[in-house]
Order: sequence, then C-alpha cells, then structure tokens
Amino acid sequence: MQANQHSTQPVQKLAVIGAGTMGTGIAIVAARGGCKTFIVDHRAGLAERAIDQAKIFLDRSVNKGKLTVHERDEIIDRMHAVDRLDQLADVDLVIEAVFESLQVKHEVFQALNQVCKPSCLFASNTSTISITEIAGGSGRDDRFIGLHFCLPAQLMKLVEVSRGISTSDECFERAWAFCEQVGQRPVHTQDTPGFVLNYFLIPFNNDAIRLVEQGVASPTDIDVAIKTALGYAMGPFELLDLVGMDTQLLLCEAMHGLTHEKRAVCPPLVKRMIAAGRLGKKTGIGFHRYSDQKIFGA
Ligand code: NAD
Repeated sequence: MQANQHSTQPVQKLAVIGAGTMGTGIAIVAARGGCKTFIVDHRAGLAERAIDQAKIFLDRSVNKGKLTVHERDEIIDRMHAVDRLDQLADVDLVIEAVFESLQVKHEVFQALNQVCKPSCLFASNTSTISITEIAGGSGRDDRFIGLHFCLPAQLMKLVEVSRGISTSDECFERAWAFCEQVGQRPVHTQDTPGFVLNYFLIPFNNDAIRLVEQGVASPTDIDVAIKTALGYAMGPFELLDLVGMDTQLLLCEAMHGLTHEKRAVCPPLVKRMIAAGRLGKKTGIGFHRYSDQKIFGA
C-alpha cells in the first residue's frame, strides 16, 4: 500500500534511543539522509561508540568510491551523542531501538513523552511486540508507529511500516515520507507478531539451529547450502551471528508468547551459547569466529 500524500514537512531532527546493533545502523541511515541525529543509550559511552562505528562504516564507503570525504564528514557532523532526554525536546521523530521488552519500551516512551514536543512522532523498531501495545503505554498512541528496519540497517533498504489501532493517518503518512526522505523502501504491514520478515525468519533460523543440534550438518555447510540454492545474501548462521544470540532469545520468547508457534521456541543451543558468551559478532564468536570483532556485516 502507498500513502496517499507526502505533503509533510521533512524530518530535520531525529533521535535514536538505544545505540546497539540496530540503533547504530538506523542513526547512520538518518544522518546519511540529512537529519540531525541524536543518539541516546543508558549505558555510558555507547552513543559515542555508535558514532565511532559509523566512522568506520563510512570510511569503507569512501574507500569504495561511494562517498566523498566531505560527504562523510558532513554525515558524522550530523550525529550527536547525548546523555539526557531533555536534550530531545525539539526533535521531529524518535526511533526507539532498545531491548525487546514491553516494560523497557514503555519506560522509555513515558520518559520521552514528558520532554518531546507534541508534534514529535514516536516510532518503535520492535521485531515482535505489538505496536498497539507499545503505543498504549506511550502517552501518544495517535502519533505512534512501527518502523522496522532490517539488519544491517545501514545496508538494507527495507522498512516495515506498521500502524497501531490508534495511529493517525497523518502519523502514517509522515513516517512513510520519512522513510523515502532517507532513501529507504517502506512497505505497509499489519501490526502482527513478526510482521512479514520475522514471521518467516524466526522459525526458519530456529529450524537451521535444530539441524545443527541434531548433527545433520555444520553451520558453515548449512550457510553454503542456503546461499547457493536459495540465493540468499547471508546464510542463517551468518545472520544469527549478526542478530546476536541474546536478541534471538528475546525475539523467540516474544514471538512464541504471542503465537504459541512451536517453531518459534528458542532451541536450547542458543541458551547454552549465551551462557558461554558466544553471542555472535559482537563478542567475536557465535556460530562462526570473527577475528576483528566488527559489528557490521559490510
Ligand atoms: P541491542 O541489545 O544490540 O541494543 C539495545 C541497546 O538499547 C543497548 O545498547 C542498550 O544499552 C540500550 N538500552 C536498553 N534500555 C535502554 C534504555 N532504557 N534507554 C536507553 N538505551 C537503552 O539490541 P538490537 O539488536 O539493536 O535490538 C533493538 C531493537 O531492535 C529490539 O526491539 C529488536 O527487536 C529490534 N530489531 C532487532 C534486529 C536484529 O536483528 N538485531 C532487527 C530488527 C529489529
């Protein structure tokens, strides 16, 4: 579905809450798309780290000839690490990318609702939690929308745009226009667990993990099989290492809690890997090993 009209003011100032895997990528997309981008994380130093990671990613784009040095510097100049929510009073849009927990998301939006101007839109990057439910605890459910970016956000163009029950038409159209403004490809999905992508991906990735648990094939062989036969850019274990086992567990719990779909149950191997610190790329080892501890797949 396309929005009918995009006669809305462009987003000039934006905040990303949560400077983890997704928040960092979303901040790059927003700053690259011309928005002054504030980054907040409750853990000291993580917002600054996100900007450092953006520099590494953008340097690579310069080396590939996709960006000039001047453009890179302008993008970085638009990124600002902030440590207080009251510094977000004037932003046009907030995109939340904190842990996949309804309670944490409600706490974040309740605090934001106290400081952000009334016209500011709230968006959640949740993968599995109902937009209507998060919106219900935000204090502005008419100006609340799901904007589900894909991993790695700075490379993947798709954004699933999902409205909650009370989302206004104006909010939907402004959010859709924002996606286009920053060069993303929005699609409209209903507010259902997993939207389109994770409805497929969570059970699919769990099936792949169960094949490894059963000793049917190694992660490397499964990755090669899927990429070679199905033409996917990444195999399931390459993707899982990028997603992170900690996040995969939360995604499975949220999706299974809502759907009771057996294939959404988190395989025991994921919990054992978390206990062993094998979270994926972010800890240097998951189903594969990584020598440079890079977070980005590029
Ligand atoms: P992550 O664990 O990498 O990052 C979450 C960040 O949020 C952390 O840096 C944490 O310190 C911060 N945070 C937690 N509570 C906070 C608070 N109260 N205030 C400020 N910062 C806080 O997680 P992620 O993989 O980036 O996932 C974030 C969201 O994006 C989740 O809702 C997830 O479902 C969704 N998502 C994840 C993926 C994926 O593949 N990893 C893809 C699409 C969407």
